[in-house]
This record gives sequence, C-alpha cells and structure tokens, in this order.
Amino acid sequence: MKKKIIVLAGDGIGPEIMESGLRVLSAVEPQCTHEFEIQKYPFGGAGIDAAGSPLPIETLAACQQADAILLGAIGGPKWDKEIDTPEKGLLALRKTLKLFANIRPVAVSATLAPRSPLKPEIIAGTDLVIVRELSSGIYFGEPRELTATMAYDTARYQKNEIEQILHTAFKIAQGRRKQVTSVDKANVLASSKLWRATAEEVSKAYPDCQLNHQYVDSAAMKLIQRPTDFDVIVTDNLFGDILSDEASVLPGTLGVLPSASHSSDGPSLYEPIHGSAPDIAGQGLANPMSMILSIAMMLRQSFAEEHAAQLIEKACDQVLAQGIATSDLGGTASTTEFTAAVIQMCQMIS
Ligand code: ATP
Ligand code: MG
Repeated sequence: MKKKIIVLAGDGIGPEIMESGLRVLSAVEPQCTHEFEIQKYPFGGAGIDAAGSPLPIETLAACQQADAILLGAIGGPKWDKEIDTPEKGLLALRKTLKLFANIRPVAVSATLAPRSPLKPEIIAGTDLVIVRELSSGIYFGEPRELTATMAYDTARYQKNEIEQILHTAFKIAQGRRKQVTSVDKANVLASSKLWRATAEEVSKAYPDCQLNHQYVDSAAMKLIQRPTDFDVIVTDNLFGDILSDEASVLPGTLGVLPSASHSSDGPSLYEPIHGSAPDIAGQGLANPMSMILSIAMMLRQSFAEEHAAQLIEKACDQVLAQGIATSDLGGTASTTEFTAAVIQMCQMIS
C-alpha cells in the first residue's frame, strides 16, 4: 500500500522549498521500497486565507490519518494581528499529535565548514543530534503567575516523560556513535535531579551505549568549542530550545538544518528548523536544503528507507563540494538551480 504523506507547505518560503523537496522525493522514489501518495493541505497563514483557521479541521483530520507529515514554514507579518496566529496552529497540531520528541541533527561536513563564521578546523566533522523534550517542562508547567512586581513559572517533569525522551535518545544513539550526553542543571534544579537519576536508570537498558551528564552552561560552551565531541545530546524543553538554536550557528546558515518531531505511536512531522523568512520569500533565494534533508529524515525515520535517505544527503554534500550553493552560503544558485543540481547528482551517484 502507498504511504500517505500530508504536505503542509505553509507560508513565506515554505511553498518554494516544499516544491524543491517534493521534486527530490519524486526523483529518489524509484530507489525506495515504498510508493508515496502526496496530499496537500492549507496550514498556517495559508490556512487562515483558505479556510479562516491556521489549522483547518480538514487539515488536522488528514494529518491524523497520515503516515508522515511534511511542513514547510509558517507565519509572517500578514497574520501577526490574527487572534489565532499561524504559530498557534502549529502548537495545536503538535499537541493533538502528541509530538513529544524534537530531533535536530546538525552536521557540518568538510565541504560546508569553510562557509561557516566559525573556524573550519574546529567545526568540520561535527555530526550531532539534539533530542529535545517538546511537550512538558517550564513552557507548560502550572502554576504560573505574572503580576507587576512578582512572577514565577513551574519547571515540572513527570518521571515517565523523562523516561520516554531518554529512550528516544538512546535508540537514536544506537544507530550512530552510541554516545548520549544528557544535559541538565542538576546542581541547582529539582527537575534536573530527577532528570539525571532517570537518565541513569534508562541507560541500563542500553549497555551498548555510553551515557555522560553535562550541566547546561558547560554544554553551551563546549557546543561551540568542541562540537565534534558530541553524538546525541538529550535535554529538556527549555535547554533544548536554547541549545538547538545555538547549534544552528555551526553550519553558518539556518537554511541547511532539518528536524523531526515524533510521538509514541502516531505520524511524525518533518520540517526545516527555520521560519518562513518573509524577507526573502518569492525571490528564488531560499536554500531548499533544510527541506530536502527533512525529507531524507522522513525517509529514514518513518519509512526505513535508509538507502534513499543517504543518497539525498550525499547528493546535497557533493553539490556543495562542486561549489553550487544558494546565497545564504555565499553562492549564486537560485532555489530551483540548487534543486536541479541535487536531483542530477542523485541520478549520477545512485
Ligand atoms: P521564526 O520566528 O518563524 O522562527 P525567524 O524570525 O527566526 O522566524 P527565519 O524565518 O527563521 O526567522 O529567518 C531568519 C533569517 O534566516 C532570515 O534572514 C532569513 O532570510 C534566513 N533564512 C531562513 N531560512 C532560510 C533559508 N532556507 N534559506 C536562506 N535563508 C534563510
Ligand atoms: Mg526563529
């Protein structure tokens, strides 16, 4: 049976990079064991324009029935004054699908390294994954209060929530270099003390993997100083938010970074980590690699199409090695030129 992929192109550069990604997907589909059926639905600002809601009922229903979901990007100045903003639509989608694990790989190949603002000799070879807990912690904890003179939030974690995200991290590590770094602030925070103890417990189920702990302040420093030391970083919602944006500086552009969000049993959602980039939308300037690599992640993680996933990743790297790049990486290729080069490379090396 065909695997059903729901496509939410969204706003700004979303539709442009989605078109690129889908063209690459069609190009590698013959190399896949599955066939794919693509269905497009309005979402975000496009949802507001088409159906009066950032998450139209039909869109949500389709996502719930999907085998995987691809998202371009959402939001933009046009919808900032809406009561139900595009961003609220995304939060509602994540919540309904119970997406608790956000996975952000950051890889800086020797080809990409010289284009980064950081020293190439330090960052070349970086190949890490940040696993961020997405559904709990201080962003959701109650009670919370804000007055003119006092305010507080609650950083709450249930043990089972920590267990779930740690299992996700160890399973990812098993397919990689088998090193898990759990990041917390266990010298100060109660929630981090439970986090660390639970990480130790969960690690016993993965004797082939190594677990080490780091405080978040030190991890923030090492991520820039020695990024090649990391394999899988697992951390809570707040620390993961900050560290994953920090790590995105390593390749020098947001335009190459994919992500995945998983639930325990439903469909996963794959999207670039960047926003809708209204400043460059509609000009053919967007780097589609973030979307193309999100599709590679989908092929690997939702459909076990490792061969096709690697083919796409290698093709992107070799196109960059040829000196073909979009302007965010200092090149002159347009979105469609870069995409065409990746497709041609996929065909050459397959
Ligand atoms: P959001 O609030 O939705 O996260 P943001 O304010 O963080 O959005 P982005 O849309 O992520 O902003 O863009 C940040 C900067 O990075 C912009 O200058 C944008 O042009 C650039 N950028 C983002 N994505 C890409 C891409 N795929 N290709 C090229 N440049 C990009
Ligand atoms: Mg942002």
